[in-house]
Amino acid sequence: MFFTGTRSAAAVTSAEAIAAGIAADGGLFVPESFPRITPEKFAALAQADYRTRAAEVLALYLTDYTADEIAHCVNGAYSGTFENDSPAPLADIGDKRQMLELWHGPTCAFKDLALQILPYLLTAALNKGATGRTAVILVATSGDTGKAALAGFADVKNTRIIVFYPQNGVSDMQKLQMTTQRGSNVAVCAIEGNFDDAQSGVKAIFTDAEMKDFLAQHQLEFSSANSINFGRLAPQIVYYVSAYCDLLKNGSLAPGEEFNVVVPTGNFGNILAAVYAKQMGVPIKKFICASNKNNVLTDFIRTGTYDRNREFHTTESPSMDILISSNLERYLHLLDNGDTAVTARLMAQLKNDGKYTLPPEMFAKMQTEFYGGCCDDAAGRAAIAKIFRERNYLCDTHTAVALAVCDQYRRETGDDTLCVIASTASPYKFAPAVLSALTDEALPADDFEKLELLSKISNTKVPAALATLRGEEIRHKRCIAKNDMAEYIKSVLA
Ligand SMILES: *Cc1c(COP(=O)(O)O)cnc(C)c1O
Repeated sequence: MFFTGTRSAAAVTSAEAIAAGIAADGGLFVPESFPRITPEKFAALAQADYRTRAAEVLALYLTDYTADEIAHCVNGAYSGTFENDSPAPLADIGDKRQMLELWHGPTCAFKDLALQILPYLLTAALNKGATGRTAVILVATSGDTGKAALAGFADVKNTRIIVFYPQNGVSDMQKLQMTTQRGSNVAVCAIEGNFDDAQSGVKAIFTDAEMKDFLAQHQLEFSSANSINFGRLAPQIVYYVSAYCDLLKNGSLAPGEEFNVVVPTGNFGNILAAVYAKQMGVPIKKFICASNKNNVLTDFIRTGTYDRNREFHTTESPSMDILISSNLERYLHLLDNGDTAVTARLMAQLKNDGKYTLPPEMFAKMQTEFYGGCCDDAAGRAAIAKIFRERNYLCDTHTAVALAVCDQYRRETGDDTLCVIASTASPYKFAPAVLSALTDEALPADDFEKLELLSKISNTKVPAALATLRGEEIRHKRCIAKNDMAEYIKSVLA
């Protein structure tokens, strides 16, 4: 299996794609074709555990990795790192809705599913290339990626990791998770700007010629832990395959029977993994793309015009506060049947004008498989309160957006097909907003007392990963202007 760029056709191996993160022309790496999983194979995987499912799916894409290498990656990432050794369990919340709980990992968000394994995949890839260089992982984060990447890469040999987050664009708990990170190879820095500023800054630095020289002089090379890296996408495909296997196993679906997925979306990585799972044979009927008030994707799916020229809103679901959804580029590549000239043209328009309109055939195709919906913070809180009242189920602010949009979809279309809803974070990561949805009481000022109050009200446990942050030393205090990111990186690495 080879990988090509979305904007030009240079073919590379999976190890090369994972090591580089992004193609030289700024495009993203995509598999040249999609391996299919047969109904017999699904039936067999339904009886297997998560690690086996992961190894089987990854092997179909990472054909230049040996079976031993893949087993090593999978076991390192998914043995003993997730609660109950169960990285992606389903929870039935009634009305033909199943929560795919993706937050039982070390940092309590779905990013762990990919970022626990990426350091293994990347280390193996670098060994294959054997340049002797140290990989510098640059991360722009809207909150959850940063911590998950830090947790995955801390003290991993031959890697350095530098994380940028928007100063006022992450929750207090997310900030604390990052600023207390230990590790001899980690750096964390706030920027005066929003997530798109951080992401654009990182993307520009990646392709900057002067920076390339600087790295080469210091025996370093950049890699990316953002969801533009195929090494993050592949492990995300796994949990959609796994969810389908679980639905077959527990009798919720007959073989071949379709289901819908609802995904709270920001950078379009999570929902794109579902699209790729469908390409492999998982019978997904509709992709329901849920956005918060930053509803650029909702408008795009409904009108065919992507227009980022709009106000940026800071919301209670900060990991979805994004106006440029990078992974959408990979979906465009699918929609235009791999015509790199079309994708390149649309991406150039996005860069120059901040907007583009899909050609009619691409728009029509998108509309057959996608539904876009959005809701504001008030509707999100209402969804948290409702599901707790009706089902005694506690969900976070991002998952709440998906729940609300799932309702909206069903009301609008009458389609009551079983929905798998991606539940992307522990409610404890966003305790103030979740608490405000559940109680009118004044909240305690202390962050950890808020966690305890949420525990008391919901009769669930505070995740150990958050409880133990109490009293941790703040190790990373810098905040810089968004134009100073390159200088900061040099100062860290020199
Ligand atoms: C990252 C994140 C999202 C958005 O996922 P994308 O892959 O960027 O679309 C949603 N919810 C949570 C909790 C996240 O951390």
